[in-house]
Amino acid sequence: MKFNELNLIAPILQALETEGYSQPTPIQEQSIPILLQRKDLLGCAQTGTGKTAAFAIPILQILHEEHAERTHKNIKTLILTPTRELAIQIGESFAAYGRNLRIRHTVIFGGVTQGSQVQALQRGVDILIATPGRLLDLMNQGYINLTNISIFVLDEADRMLDMGFIHDVKRVVAKLPLKRQTLFFSATMPPEIQKLANTILVKPEMVAVTPPATTAELVNQSVYFVGQKDKRQLLQYVLQDKSIKTALVFTRTKHGADKVVKDLVKEGITAEAIHGNKSQNARQRALSNFKENKIRVLVATDIAARGIDVDLLSHVINYEIPEVPETYVHRIGRTGRAGASGIAMSFCDAEEMQDWRNILKLTGQKIPVVEGHPFPMPAANQVVINLPKNKEVVRRPNAVAGFNSGNNNKNRRFSGGSGRAR
Ligand code: AMP
Repeated sequence: MKFNELNLIAPILQALETEGYSQPTPIQEQSIPILLQRKDLLGCAQTGTGKTAAFAIPILQILHEEHAERTHKNIKTLILTPTRELAIQIGESFAAYGRNLRIRHTVIFGGVTQGSQVQALQRGVDILIATPGRLLDLMNQGYINLTNISIFVLDEADRMLDMGFIHDVKRVVAKLPLKRQTLFFSATMPPEIQKLANTILVKPEMVAVTPPATTAELVNQSVYFVGQKDKRQLLQYVLQDKSIKTALVFTRTKHGADKVVKDLVKEGITAEAIHGNKSQNARQRALSNFKENKIRVLVATDIAARGIDVDLLSHVINYEIPEVPETYVHRIGRTGRAGASGIAMSFCDAEEMQDWRNILKLTGQKIPVVEGHPFPMPAANQVVINLPKNKEVVRRPNAVAGFNSGNNNKNRRFSGGSGRAR
């Protein structure tokens, strides 16, 4: 599927090309047509799936078609998101995908003075991206009027609940016009969130991006508990094993990916990175070098790895543990395809222990712990963090003996609905 099969207008398609996006992610492929038909949407997806573009692209197109560019007098779209960081990221996405349109947006959040936010509002905006507290504050001061909102997005609803914002959210919703299009995103659907969804959505279409949990059963997994500063050396140590012909290494950030490559190259190990800051050409070059075995290691961030489909990829190394547990399943699903068994190793430091526990919970698997490697996590940390109950010890580095998949899906975060597994 290509973006130009989604009935998008030329200025948006051009912007996506500038961004280097070659194809829509599953959530985008499924959501964009629904939203362009002006239907309500219930989206089960977490950050990292491309969900921001899944709503930002159709919103920009709808506002353009409604001639929002003619006057910026009223706020027409409200996006409510729990954190300042997310608000800023969403603002950046609108700027990127709307670069060829003259639709105005602004971002407001707490923790900073309100002066410049108020000025931006007074200049007039079409799209407002806000955290709940600051939004209510500026509404109460009379700077914001929501009576012309035609599209409302509630982003990360479950996190709103966790962070204690649910009452603020309800207060905002009460001020919105009843006739509107509503988009509701949440990674999980606890009963309170389901109830909220039922009250604010009208005949919603449901879209879910579920992890292909079954692939995990084919992959031999292991975890190295390691000191944070020793990951670099642990990677070099692991790669001394010549049976690892090629490895896909995952980092959380683009900067982290570049750093891993630099360190490996210094040690004479051929490596290249692919991530969002690289041009499409550079990414494709790195990928073909990897596929043709010209380089041994490809270092990728999660989203950049999306399009990677390498036959018989034998090793995946999680240099950093993903925050979102489903991402782990996606990552290791890169290996062990088509019945081939792959190997996935994870490097977990003290700060990542909670993320690791969440992964164990999601997969319901016992993942063997490699002991006896030269870079163990400092003992003090191990005492404090309490290793997970279901740890299984493997004495030889790289060994994956004793692997017991024992997978059950009872800990899956959501039940999938009409969604498709990737
Ligand atoms: P999100 O899940 O919205 O936080 O998006 C995560 C990252 O994916 C962002 O850095 C986006 O720029 C990137 N992204 C979103 N859609 C695509 C796509 N179709 N192709 C490549 N990257 C994308």
